[in-house]
Amino acid sequence: MKDDKKLHALLGPAGPEVGCDDCFELLDRYVEAELAGGDADALLPGVRAHLAGCPACREEHESLRALVAESF
Ligand SMILES: [Zn+2]
Repeated sequence: MKDDKKLHALLGPAGPEVGCDDCFELLDRYVEAELAGGDADALLPGVRAHLAGCPACREEHESLRALVAESF
């Protein structure tokens, strides 16, 4: 049995599964893209889905966005 496909799905750029660590790492760019009027969802797929299901990261996202918005 080959697991290549499964592995690729996990590592691929469009992998929908974003963990809290990944989310935290991507949040900077996500917020910047949002505030710059870019398509943050297309740029960083999976982040929004994670935010929707993770209250902790959502809170982090909101405070980071408030912080970045101030310095914009
Ligand atoms: Zn999370």
